[in-house]
Amino acid sequence: MTFNQILEQYHWDDITQKIYAKTDADVQSALNSQSPSIEDFMALISPAAQPYIEEMARRSHLLTQKRFGKTIQLYVPLYLSNFCQNACAYCGFSAQNKIQRKVLSFEEIEEEVKAIADLGFKHILLVTGEADNKADVEYFKKAFEIIKPYSSLISLEVQPLSEWGYKELVKNGLNTVYIYQETYHKANYPKYHLKGKKADFENRINAFENLGKAEVHKIGLGILAGLEDWRTDSFFTALHLSYLKKKYWKTKYSISFPRLRPHEGVFEPNFVMTDKDLAQLIFAYRIFDENVEIALSTRESATFRDHMMKLGVTSMSAESQTQPGGYAHKDKDKDLEQFEVNDSRTAKEMAEMIRSQGYEAVWKDWDGYLQ
Ligand code: SF4
Repeated sequence: MTFNQILEQYHWDDITQKIYAKTDADVQSALNSQSPSIEDFMALISPAAQPYIEEMARRSHLLTQKRFGKTIQLYVPLYLSNFCQNACAYCGFSAQNKIQRKVLSFEEIEEEVKAIADLGFKHILLVTGEADNKADVEYFKKAFEIIKPYSSLISLEVQPLSEWGYKELVKNGLNTVYIYQETYHKANYPKYHLKGKKADFENRINAFENLGKAEVHKIGLGILAGLEDWRTDSFFTALHLSYLKKKYWKTKYSISFPRLRPHEGVFEPNFVMTDKDLAQLIFAYRIFDENVEIALSTRESATFRDHMMKLGVTSMSAESQTQPGGYAHKDKDKDLEQFEVNDSRTAKEMAEMIRSQGYEAVWKDWDGYLQ
């Protein structure tokens, strides 16, 4: 059964009602469970769990430390292109926005990756808009060749590729791929995804199958918080995670929770997710799944990231530039950026903050060598 078929068995409003009807007893039962179920996860993200947030934080902290030690992996996004064939209402790169566009040449990629290496990073996340006429599998393969001498781990956040495309890139050093479904609200999905391949809800969900079949080492998934009720969307993300884990059990998984940030074009969040809500969600995921990696990007504030560092998170980006060419030429082309970052500390400052809390900042993920 595909995940699209599984989704057919659920109704968005019923799930929302179920989450909001969870009781104190449901939360206690979830916290007492040795192996929390998806029903327990619903209780942990429900309003009924709010009085238990400190207990959830303690539990999340202990589970994370037991599984991942006192470490935080550091990574940096490298934007290769801001061309996009899709029109997502919430994104600065939308094809409908009249912004300057750029795709990095191979010489510019080398310039960027050298500037990134000088900052200390070994884990590079390559990001593009979704435009396969500007950045396709062949382009990524060439980019990998340039980047590999400077990096121990390459991740991708680009348009969904075919199974063949992922296999080609795995052969060439690809480790992790992030695809964001953005929202699992199928009926409302077209309101946010107006044009292009991404407008096809089912097609986007099916993209995860290509990742599993190509045996990509790690799959990252998540929603964009702010579009729909984060509780219901998180339930479906957890359901998707459980499905993928069962079907592609050799693969590792990572979850992240981008919240809407200011960008070119106007889009106000429909549903506000507060810092407290996001903290609750992180704790709930950790209690639900001890092994899932949890990433927190520079979309979040320095204060929030500092507080969450020991409480469930396993990787963080730092000193991020969200425009192509942003590292070699920091103050140039700011109008090319996807969104404004919230935490603008340097990589060195982040590493110092991590160390000051008794943790180790990990620049190099040895997993990359051990595959
Ligand atoms: S979210 Fe991604 S696919 Fe949508 S417009 Fe932005 S870059 Fe393109």
